[in-house]
Amino acid sequence: MADQQDLMELAKRRGFFFGSNGAYGGTAGFYTFGPEGASLKHNVEAAWRDQFTLRLGNDEIEAPTIMPEAVFEASGHLDGFDDMLVECAECGASHRADHLIEDAVNDIEDAEALGIERVGELIAEHDLACPACGASLAGEPVEDFNLMFETSIGPGSGQPGYMRPETAQGIFVEFPRLKEYARGQLPFGVTQIGTAYRNEISPRRGIIRVREFTQAELEQFIDPEEDEPPLGEVDDVEVTLYPATEQHADDGEYIETTIGEAVDEGIIGSPWVAYFLGIAQGWYERVGVDMDRFRFRQHLAGERAHYAADCWDAESEIGGNWIEIAGFAYRGDYDLTKHGEYSEDRFTVFKRYDEPITVEKAVVDPDMSALGPEFGGAAAGIAEALQDLAERNPDAFDQDEVTVEANGEEYTVDTEIANFAIEEQTESGEHITPHVVEPSFGVGRTVYTLLEHGYSEDEVDGETRSYLSLAPEIAPTNVAVFPLVSNDDALVAVATDVSQALRQAGISVSYDDSGSIGRRYRRQDEVGTPFCVTVDQDGLEGNDEDTVTLRERDSAAQIRIPVAELADELEAIFSGEQTFGDLSSRYGDVETDVTTA
Ligand code: ATP
Repeated sequence: MADQQDLMELAKRRGFFFGSNGAYGGTAGFYTFGPEGASLKHNVEAAWRDQFTLRLGNDEIEAPTIMPEAVFEASGHLDGFDDMLVECAECGASHRADHLIEDAVNDIEDAEALGIERVGELIAEHDLACPACGASLAGEPVEDFNLMFETSIGPGSGQPGYMRPETAQGIFVEFPRLKEYARGQLPFGVTQIGTAYRNEISPRRGIIRVREFTQAELEQFIDPEEDEPPLGEVDDVEVTLYPATEQHADDGEYIETTIGEAVDEGIIGSPWVAYFLGIAQGWYERVGVDMDRFRFRQHLAGERAHYAADCWDAESEIGGNWIEIAGFAYRGDYDLTKHGEYSEDRFTVFKRYDEPITVEKAVVDPDMSALGPEFGGAAAGIAEALQDLAERNPDAFDQDEVTVEANGEEYTVDTEIANFAIEEQTESGEHITPHVVEPSFGVGRTVYTLLEHGYSEDEVDGETRSYLSLAPEIAPTNVAVFPLVSNDDALVAVATDVSQALRQAGISVSYDDSGSIGRRYRRQDEVGTPFCVTVDQDGLEGNDEDTVTLRERDSAAQIRIPVAELADELEAIFSGEQTFGDLSSRYGDVETDVTTA
């Protein structure tokens, strides 16, 4: 297992990521992905897009990162997107109150669920000290702190805006247009990969808790009464579940089961959430998460976000701790209903019935020539109120008079003037508010998990080496190409040609001719390059065809292979048609390692 310090050091040294703005003393909670990290991150995003957009047949959008206040009033973030803050009176440092409890009290894993008052009490009961200066925090007030970054849209302060705290809202607010692109047909899914911003109280643990990060989210819009997920696709997928019931028990255990069984037994309440857990399990495996250090944990009741009916997190084990890397929430009709209420737009879809239905409807047809003279300017309002009353309480029209309210005043109207009737009407459908199921992935936390789970050390040629065992699809570079020495024109010419040929085949190549060959291998091992190709004199002289050595990262084993075959064989490995083992049995391992000479 990777020592956190070693991994952070490797991440910085090899250009995966490092704290931003170092020249100005650094800014807590902001990280820059260096060349290797940016490439790794883009590969994770591409693999996510391939699974959650392409393979699931969804559409991707790209919305702005700044949104006006009205959006977050409607979504509930303005009021409810808070973390618990406690400030040290002595040194002024700010801390996440719930995290202090989790760090200090053994059997509390999720202090947020306990509520702000209890967290304050626990700080006092355990006499917790400020991690920065050691002063006691007992008695300090614990407060809600809103995590959104506020800004102004345009000059002046007239239009407050916020950096989006999740990419999801950019999808929800555009629902009235997105449903048109989906031709008004449920179910449909919309994805987005982009930055989200949270003014975290205490950013920590490298890129795991930062103030600007990338999310990859899918909003699946469904008709809750009709739409079923294609569970058959994931029925047999094996998962490790940690349901809420087990988390309360002293001897709580994981449940090893399949998605199909978990749904049948009601362990996962929503079949749609279960479906996405199954898809996610396959995806995490594909990108190289160690599935022995991975679980799905159900949220406890007090932990659920303001919108979520049922929620499970994907969690990975990092340095002995479990961290959330994705959330799967059944958001119900919360978001669309709210935006429908707060905006002028329509957040529903028209659901056509199989057959038009006939319904009886109470209607009025007020005699305006009588209403007008009697009630003057209030007549139109009264007519509307009469229709309202007819729908709510048709029996009221059995009386000689009805009383209605219009513009804040009460009016009594002769029932005859209202012309009340029960009519038969044909309806072809109804407007319904879709429900939303949301898988929400953190890209940075996935990247960190892949680095930590892929980090290995072993002995090669009597030396300890560290390497990153990254999946070829995810590794920043697919293949490194080296001329054995850089001052031999023939070797350099072939190595350059080989690099070009591989690039033409769509394989990413890093060309490296600096330092000893051993150092070049170590460099590539540490950035997770799955294969190294070395061009040496033995391969060019006295043979019918030019050959090179091909070295696999994890085993450090080498084979000799004709240059003409190289691109095809590598492509077959990358597409999963063969393994390096298949190649070695065909070409045979290199007996003496010429390249370390
Ligand atoms: P946490 O409880 O760790 O703060 P959350 O439950 O608030 O996370 P969600 O709102 O479910 O997170 O966001 C979805 C995903 O976005 C998370 O699973 C995580 O991978 C990522 N994420 C959330 N906050 C951060 C952050 N501050 N830094 C990096 N990634 C984050």
